[in-house]
Amino acid sequence: MRTVPRSVREEARRLREEIEEHNRLYYDEAAPAISDDEFDRLLERLIALEREHPEIRTPDSPTLRVGGAPSDKFETVVHSVPMLSLDNTYSPEELVEFDARTRKLLRAESLDYAVEFKLDGVAVALSYRESVLARGATRGDGSAGDDITANLRTLRSIPLRLRGDPVDLEVRGEVYLRFTDLEKMNERQEEIGGRSFANPRNAAAGSLKLLDPAEVAKRPLRFLAYQIVSPLALGVRTQLEAIETLRAFGFARTEGASLCRGIDAVVRRCEEMSEERHRLPYGTDGVVVKVNDLSLHVRLGATSKSPRWGIAYKFPAEKKTTVIRRIVLQVGRTGAVTPVAEVDPVRLAGTVVRRATLHNEEEIRRLDARVGDRVWIEKSGEIIPRILGVEPGERKGDEEPFRFPDACPVCGEPLERAEGEVVVRCENPSCPAQVRRRIVHYASRDAMDIEGLGIKVVEQLADSGLLAEIPDLYRLQKEALVPLERFGEKSAENLLRAIEESKSRPLDRFLFAVGIRHVGRTTARAIALRFQTIEKTMRAGEDELAAVGDVGPVVARSALHFFESAKGRLLVEDLLAAGVRPAPVEGPAKETSALRGKKIVLTGTLASLTREEARERIEAAGGKAVASVSAKTDLVVAGDSPGSKKTKAEALGVRVIGEKEFLSMLEEK
Ligand SMILES: [Zn+2]
Repeated sequence: MRTVPRSVREEARRLREEIEEHNRLYYDEAAPAISDDEFDRLLERLIALEREHPEIRTPDSPTLRVGGAPSDKFETVVHSVPMLSLDNTYSPEELVEFDARTRKLLRAESLDYAVEFKLDGVAVALSYRESVLARGATRGDGSAGDDITANLRTLRSIPLRLRGDPVDLEVRGEVYLRFTDLEKMNERQEEIGGRSFANPRNAAAGSLKLLDPAEVAKRPLRFLAYQIVSPLALGVRTQLEAIETLRAFGFARTEGASLCRGIDAVVRRCEEMSEERHRLPYGTDGVVVKVNDLSLHVRLGATSKSPRWGIAYKFPAEKKTTVIRRIVLQVGRTGAVTPVAEVDPVRLAGTVVRRATLHNEEEIRRLDARVGDRVWIEKSGEIIPRILGVEPGERKGDEEPFRFPDACPVCGEPLERAEGEVVVRCENPSCPAQVRRRIVHYASRDAMDIEGLGIKVVEQLADSGLLAEIPDLYRLQKEALVPLERFGEKSAENLLRAIEESKSRPLDRFLFAVGIRHVGRTTARAIALRFQTIEKTMRAGEDELAAVGDVGPVVARSALHFFESAKGRLLVEDLLAAGVRPAPVEGPAKETSALRGKKIVLTGTLASLTREEARERIEAAGGKAVASVSAKTDLVVAGDSPGSKKTKAEALGVRVIGEKEFLSMLEEK
């Protein structure tokens, strides 16, 4: 078995925590501390580490949220033809270079290209047998993805049966959302206490990973087809013909697709499209440029990462100017205070922007942003817009430098500036803004998952005097709820039932929900797996805590501090007295199994297990049974009369084991 260097495990753990913390700042406190690009870099680094060492991937790694690797919640589908993604270019010069490279390979004077908008969504593959939708899968890691057929069937823009004569076909395309649908969906999420999504791509990816197709059906997802796999077999000879053929099969129409003769025409068309995109009802982040003649695709082939017959031209991030009307301070769950600029509404990347983050006091000073200033704002897809800079030439002269208040705008207590930190905090634990955010966090989907308890409802209950602290949730009475606006018999009952159900949530959710500093979902799970009950967790010493995988000394001290503080101890005791009984966390065997995270191929006949049983045992141990051997395979289990898979594994240097060793690895903890 390959061993993972300690330094790698350590780095992955640190990255997971950092990413979770930034996620939390972004989602729970609307107070991102780093830029979008910086966040992406952290995530990319973690994805790279996990790809190299699959065994370090934890079941709740933040990388699973972005839909990189196939998850273990769904069956794995091995793609007949790998789903590669196109290389990106960012300038007309790079397009010209791509054209030169391609023409050289083909010894061609000039090439015709098909250009299409690149949708900002999630790529999926659909297989049709005899024209009937048989299977739908995510891209996953390109060679294998998740079988999400049941979820994809709920999309109305995916034909369940193709028009025309029966045909076997694989189609690839993008699942996406329209901007207006995303806004509506986020409103609904907020009402039911769910998490809202930053952009259409996140929303599409998150929805497709839901385990309940009935819930997916409520999401306004759409599908646009852009590729036929093996088109020549159907007599389809060009990409533009493919688009027409897909339309004839019953797929939605592709907007803006056109034929360009020569690369100069492509460059001109890309410029036009970067204007046209603003009129589209959905998000696009570029143009896909493909050699139009599909027989040339076969000749050009692909590198290990991307096809040689196409390229994506990415639009530059959109920037606009607007005027700051007000600078307000937001107080988050932990008391962190974030300045936010309210600006004149401006349309940017398809959505109307009314607010932009100023991050912190230092950032305001660096920009010298003042109320009344004309400023440049940018939205790069992921994060709420930020202010890039001020147009000082447009000042009238009466704009005052912004003075950061000394008192919390909500509770009036003095704000604290910790040494060496840019974040300013309200340290008053009973500050109403913090309390309300804490309750929302407690009830959020990743924490105690109390449906119906979003920020609006929490504000309403707090304003009515029914809710001052988290434990008050368990003292709510139906008679008090029914008369409230927007409540009735039914919604009062639903809310109380959801609260009642939260009493038995697993310990890891509870530890995350109570809001211990530095304890994200990953860490909470590790602690819960080790100690199993809240009583044992509270009795654990610093050394015991620090010895838990995924928990470092900083986290251990923070957890200890929480349980020793009057505030933390009282909160937990109050909740237990109210009837909350965190359940032990299931699945410790899965955590420590020797097969966890491994891609395993079975070949030949095993004496003690059927193929299906062996597969189930592998998956139960956290491994993944895959169909074919590649360089990415970790292990091949060879039974009696193994086939070519064993030979191939040996040729690739993949480890081959027999039945006996396999069984002992299944037992290993
Ligand atoms: Zn305050």
